[in-house]
Amino acid sequence: MTQPQPVLALDVGGTKLAAGVVAPDGAVRSFVQIETAVDEGPTAVVKRLLDLGEQALAEAGGSVGAVGVGCGGPLDPATGVILGPPGLPGWDSVPLGHLVAERFQLPAYVENDATAAALGEYRWGGWDVENLVYLTVSTGFGGGIVADGHVFHGAAGQGGELGHVVVDWQGRQCGCGARGCAEAYVSGTSIARRATEAVAGSDSTLAGLTITAKDVAEQARAGDPIARDLWDETTAMLGRMVAVLINVCEPQLVVLGGGVTRAGAQLLDPVRAAALRQAMPPAARACDVVLSRHGDAVGVLGAAAIAYEQLETS
Ligand code: ADP
Ligand code: ZN
Repeated sequence: MTQPQPVLALDVGGTKLAAGVVAPDGAVRSFVQIETAVDEGPTAVVKRLLDLGEQALAEAGGSVGAVGVGCGGPLDPATGVILGPPGLPGWDSVPLGHLVAERFQLPAYVENDATAAALGEYRWGGWDVENLVYLTVSTGFGGGIVADGHVFHGAAGQGGELGHVVVDWQGRQCGCGARGCAEAYVSGTSIARRATEAVAGSDSTLAGLTITAKDVAEQARAGDPIARDLWDETTAMLGRMVAVLINVCEPQLVVLGGGVTRAGAQLLDPVRAAALRQAMPPAARACDVVLSRHGDAVGVLGAAAIAYEQLETS
């Protein structure tokens, strides 16, 4: 059997765009990223994404056999059309798969970014497990499931849309239109928004600033009481949700990735402790909660894994 060619992988986040060339063994041959600048709208952002892809190809040299694309959902993996993700305002019916295929003159495969990352972690995470749940805590919050060695897509390709699992049925308004979704609490955007509300009119070190999730993590570490309460509430909520997912899926691993996980142990330790304490004991004993080892490249590896999966099964 001939060895497949490397693939180009594109990762569309609400904060950053990333592109890379990934070899069949998961080696990242090139990796470049830029800000998304989501306010510029889909036409301008897609153009910069495609240019970034060209840059990744030029840096890696050689040719590639396909393009994998990870993007926030909802989207249709069968047609590669993006269907108005809450984190990408204005991206209604954007034919991303078609645009990518046209620019690179290659087959292009589009998948939910967190579903893609779940497959990337399964293939190349270095974990040696058959069942895992991946959660991205980034600009948005989403997840993907690998069950018995297969990535879970569902009937319409949105299966494992874990960001919109309801953690409080009368809770905060979510960008998807529902109330109380996990994304309305634990995404970077929601952490920042909740912090902005909490510090309004207070003497917190964050009051009056344009707050990001990174600021909340830093100020919580520095001892600001409002930031600390907010961080504790966030990790408690995420831990509770991870416990539910452990009960539902009985994974061997829950892998956390995305920009907010740059907070490291400050995020992982309380989430892991809460999840393993609150899940059903047999499921909890079979599971661990860890951080992805891939850092910012996790989305690119996921998109590449989707392309390889499609090439292998087509
Ligand atoms: P994208 O959603 O585009 O993939 P990222 O995965 O980098 O982008 O996630 C961006 C989010 O991560 C932002 O909300 C940002 O505030 C947050 N973030 C970045 N660094 C840190 C950090 N050290 N601690 C906590 N949050 C962080
Ligand atoms: Zn929602």
